[in-house]
Amino acid sequence: MSHFPLPPNAVIGLVGGGQLGRMSALAAARLGYRCHILTREADAPATQVAAGVTLSDYVDPTSLAAFAAAVDVISFEFENVSAEGLELLAALKPVRPGPHVLRVSQDRVVEKSFINRAGIATAPWAAVATVEELHAAASRLGLPAVLKTTRYGYDGKGQARLRHPDDLAPAFAALAPKPLILEGFVDFACEISVIVARGADGAVSCFDPVENRHRDGILDLTLAPARIPEATEAAARAIALRLAEALDLVGLLAVEMFVDRSGAVLVNEIAPRPHNSGHWSIDACPESQFDLHIRAVAGLKLPAAIRHSDAAMRNLVGPEGMALWPAVTATDGLIGHLYGKAEARPGRKMGHVTRLFPRGALPGEFGLAAALGPAAP
Ligand code: AMP
Repeated sequence: MSHFPLPPNAVIGLVGGGQLGRMSALAAARLGYRCHILTREADAPATQVAAGVTLSDYVDPTSLAAFAAAVDVISFEFENVSAEGLELLAALKPVRPGPHVLRVSQDRVVEKSFINRAGIATAPWAAVATVEELHAAASRLGLPAVLKTTRYGYDGKGQARLRHPDDLAPAFAALAPKPLILEGFVDFACEISVIVARGADGAVSCFDPVENRHRDGILDLTLAPARIPEATEAAARAIALRLAEALDLVGLLAVEMFVDRSGAVLVNEIAPRPHNSGHWSIDACPESQFDLHIRAVAGLKLPAAIRHSDAAMRNLVGPEGMALWPAVTATDGLIGHLYGKAEARPGRKMGHVTRLFPRGALPGEFGLAAALGPAAP
């Protein structure tokens, strides 16, 4: 039996060994907890800063049981684990957020149905199983549109932009036989996200909405706070809080949204874990998204998500990102974070860099480029 709040030196099990697990484990260490990582990969980023590691795929019952026996509570930083594996773990130790939350976020059709049922808008969408269904969906939703695999997509992988009727058949052939979803293309004014933490007692703590800019389908730059009207900001927060509530979440939820040209807020997707668009909070907040994640999972009180500074966060991606590292560490005012990945493959998130500004002083485009120096977009 685990008792909450977890006492100092309790062990938090984290499923997944990537950078989100690494930064969660660092936050856990500050709060006096130890992390035990379940991962397939020896030397994964989180294992380098954790007290214990179980090396396993995410389904083998014997290693799942050994992992559960070694920990007091379980969370995850990685969504592409089997929900069945997580359910097996939930029978042995508390899992926060629960497997039901993972099931919603793992499948774009289940996710969009859930979001719409909660009374929240998304891009228009249709599940697509055959090329005939794709043609029917495209004539209903119109072009341009985005065809995506319903599962296992991340960083723009598993999707195709459809601009012309001739694009339909090749895109279907490239992505099928996986289950697919067609989404109407949102001509967005900007992309934003909101990260909210929720405790087992229903207490919530919500970070300010931030603006996200992508490059090649991968998050490139986050600006905190998002420069959006107050009403849009309030709408974005309300959506994140409503979804956390509807999911009966215990943990952290990141909600990615589009703000369209009319100012309407549409949800793109949700992630029940720390999120790349919250990395700025490590340096710009007394308690970051990772601290709040650990606090929610451990049953500690959730402090307000206070932002003491404005911030710009840029990802260091692939070999080009790594090539910037010496200049980042040599530049005053740039706060560098590296994830300990041995190999800088193209498209791989290797680290990030944050620049802080006094509250209210986030500069415009030219000032931003100057402030980021060698890490400017
Ligand atoms: P996703 O994997 O769904 O987060 O998509 C990655 C990125 O592709 C998003 O952050 C957007 O920049 C873009 N994108 C995805 N879906 C749409 C859509 N329906 N309309 C416009 N842009 C989209």
